[in-house]
Amino acid sequence: MSNSSRHLIPIRKQIALVAHDNKKADLLDWARFNRGTLTRHSIIATGTTGGLIENELDVPVKKYKSGPLGGDQQIGAAISDHEIDLLIFFWDPLEPQPHDPDIKALLRLAVLYNIPTASNRATADFIISSPLMQEEYENSTPDLARYKNTKRTY
Ligand code: PGA
Repeated sequence: MSNSSRHLIPIRKQIALVAHDNKKADLLDWARFNRGTLTRHSIIATGTTGGLIENELDVPVKKYKSGPLGGDQQIGAAISDHEIDLLIFFWDPLEPQPHDPDIKALLRLAVLYNIPTASNRATADFIISSPLMQEEYENSTPDLARYKNTKRTY
């Protein structure tokens, strides 16, 4: 019996985009450059980032709340429900944020659920140009399965 949790990431992926204020111009520029690829997938974002992307690319974006108002937590919850396949999160390494705990929680869930995550533009470039962007991918989370097996049932 397999000891890992498996989840199929489809060809059309759910891509979450988030950028802190000092990084929004960078993310918009990246999104504009990659518009052709991004529009073959679905885009989800925190509130302000989502509004900017929607205007920039002229595509519908599923928008959660603004990050400091709970949007990062909503994205994390969506990851745990397998509703997000990729996370492009340009967080600001030079400025503390009021919602730093939420950011840490989001990044933790992205690792836990084995979600490809870019925190900077070079990583985002490598992810978006991967051949796996046009293929199905079987995602597995072995740690999750091991954890579940150690839980008592009530
Ligand atoms: P925003 O949130 O897109 O609403 O600015 C991003 C964040 O700060 O996490």
